[in-house]
Parts: sequence; C-alpha cells; structure tokens
Amino acid sequence: MIKFGQRYIIKGLKAPLQAQKYSTAGEFRPQHEAKIFGIENKVHFNINTSNEEPSLTNARAIDIALNTNKPLNTWTREQIKEIYNTPMMELVHQAQVQHRKYHNSGEVQLCTLLSIKTGGCTEDCKYCAQSNRYQTGTKAEKMIPVKDILEAARKAKAMGSTRFCMGAAWRDMHGRKSGLKRIAETVSTINKDLGLETCVTLGMINEDQAKYLADAGLTAYNHNIDTSREHYPNVISTRSYDDRLKTIKNVNDAGLKVCTGGILGLGESEDDHIGFLHTLSTMEKHPESLPINRLVPIKGTPMEAEMSKLPSTSNRKLKFESILKTIATARLIMPESIIRLAAGRYTMRENEQFLCFMSGCNAIFTGEKMLTTMCNGWDEDIEMLRKWGLRPMPSFRDEKGTPVLMEKQEAVV
Ligand code: SF4
Repeated sequence: MIKFGQRYIIKGLKAPLQAQKYSTAGEFRPQHEAKIFGIENKVHFNINTSNEEPSLTNARAIDIALNTNKPLNTWTREQIKEIYNTPMMELVHQAQVQHRKYHNSGEVQLCTLLSIKTGGCTEDCKYCAQSNRYQTGTKAEKMIPVKDILEAARKAKAMGSTRFCMGAAWRDMHGRKSGLKRIAETVSTINKDLGLETCVTLGMINEDQAKYLADAGLTAYNHNIDTSREHYPNVISTRSYDDRLKTIKNVNDAGLKVCTGGILGLGESEDDHIGFLHTLSTMEKHPESLPINRLVPIKGTPMEAEMSKLPSTSNRKLKFESILKTIATARLIMPESIIRLAAGRYTMRENEQFLCFMSGCNAIFTGEKMLTTMCNGWDEDIEMLRKWGLRPMPSFRDEKGTPVLMEKQEAVV
C-alpha cells in the first residue's frame, strides 16, 4: 500500500483516472480536466512507501493542503490566495474531499446562542447594535437571572442543540468577579446536568479568568478576530488586533477550546479574507471552532450607514461567492476546525446554505435569536438537514465513548 495523507491507494494502479479515483489531491489529474480548469497539470510529489509526509515538489497550495497528515500552521498569504482563487468547481469539490477526510460529512453541529447581558458595551465596533455609542434601539440590561439561562439551555437541548453559547456585551472581565463566578456556576450546571457543550463570549479575559472558566468545565471561549489585521482599524478602534490575539492565547493556554472567526461584509476586500484566514491558519493551534458571520447591517450603526451609501456594484459589497470561497479555503487549510455559519445565515437562501455545507461548513447556530439579530429556528433547520440527509452532530461522548444523543436528534437520525 502507498500512503497519501490519510488515505491509501493500491500499488500498481497505472491509469491516471484510477489514481484520481483513489487519491485525494487530483495530482494525476488527466490532461482534459487540466484544460477545463485552465490549471497547469503537474506531478506534484514523489510517491513514498513510508509513513512520512509525502515530499512535495513545486506543489500547488491546494495539493499541499490535501496531502499532509496533520493541519499546517505555516501557510503563507500567497498560498492561501492561490487556494482562494482556485476555480469555484474545483475549490468546492476539493474542500468537500478534505472535509470527508477529517469529519463525518453527514453531521452538522447545532448550537444555540443566548444573550445573557445585552447592550451598554463601551467598545466601538462599528457593526454592533450593543455599543453604547450608537443609537440602535438596543437597551442596556443587567445580566439575566441564572434560572432564565438554565431554562433557555434546557429548551435548546430539548430542541436538539448540543452546544449552548452565552454572550455578554462587555469589553472585558476586569472587576466582574461576581459575574464571572455566576457564569462559571451556570456553565457547570449546564455541562453536568444537561450534558451540553458550553461556550461563552465575554470580551477580553486574562489567563487566570480563562483557567477559572476551564475549571468550571467550559468547553470553548469565543473571541473573534473579526477581519484581517489590515482592515481591522476601519472597524474598531477601542481594542487592538493584538489585544484580541492575546485573549485567544490566554484561552488556549488555559486549555480551553478556542472559538474565533469573523464577520464578512464589513467593506473589506477579498485580500482581507485572505489576511483573515492567514491569521487564523497560522495560529499555534487552529481554532476548534471558526464562526463565519455575514454582516447584518443594523440601523444606527456606522457600518450600516457606510454600507448603505455604497452603490450595489461596489466591490466592497459582499458577494455570496466570497463567503463560499472563504469557507472552502478555511476547510482546506484548517481541516480539523468546526466551521460554523453564524449571524446572517437567515439572509441566505437554502441552496446557498447547502453550498456552504458542501464547502466544509459543519455547524450552525439555531434557535430563537442570535445576540441581537434573527436566527433560523430549530424546526426549520431540522427539516432542512433531514431534506439533505444531514443529522445533528452529537456532543460529548459518555464514559464509554458513546456519543450523547439528545431525544430530538434520535428522532431526526
Ligand atoms: S461586538 Fe462585542 S465588544 Fe464590540 S461593541 Fe458589540 S458587544 Fe461590545
């Protein structure tokens, strides 16, 4: 047997079509296909019979992605750009191939997000309804009672969600000792009593705070990088890109899973999508969870005002194809990450969501609401998954390693 990445092909196959059928990279792509895609046809690596990584010679970036045995964090912008600009048919196909190597392609994780403290945030994120700098109609509220959070978590579980996320509109956790304690206790209860994975997004945290949450049983901490380093100052001025990366490092160092991604449609260019993916894919450890939001312009925010002035032909307006290219590229270069469609999914048609799943997306937020924007409901989502032969991803495994399946999930499967 000859090892290619995580797959095996049978030694002795000669015809290029057979090789293509049994390999994952298309490296023996027949000439006619190369012509169709307008791609130079190359033999990209030497076959070796050991367990070592294949030796890649002048390889296309997409072939490097498809033929390594583990996620790489050495991606260059040029390589990411090359993958991002792969013709769409090829890009989506190869992203799906990669997806099937690392994930169960029939599973989609269902998560529900609850705002546990809405509005009144001191930050100036130009897209956000919760900043106290903008007149968006969102009122500043106190943290909601723990019993209400638990009730929402119970409902999410009953409806089929396996990850429960809680968001608070805070700049950071400085001076919020009692809030942190309450959240940690709530996390423990949701975790132990309901068997749901948990994620919180509370702004910037230091390593001690991250450890405290990890000890409480928190699964993941969300802190988005939002966009590329270059475009970031056009969106936020009250905290730096490096502040964000520091929080992500604290989360990682505390042993929590990192959930970090961004928002597409902030007036960025495709080069910014590449920069955004470059930051994520060169992290010491790739994010366990990578949320992709599509901007929902909120009346009263500076971003909505900027976007509404742009002509519809402006290349600063986000096209669906760019979302797809970002997801497919993310899947290829961060193969283990769970890629989740987050805010703005309700603006996508079902066939657009289908294409996102084809490109490697394998999680959605579902339920009554995102933080301040609309969300597709459980029933609608479960029906959509059923239609396409997808099923909810189980959450934790039990002591014997068996996935913990929720009642509603069993009904779907
Ligand atoms: S995105 Fe978060 S940090 Fe920024 S203004 Fe909104 S709530 Fe505050």
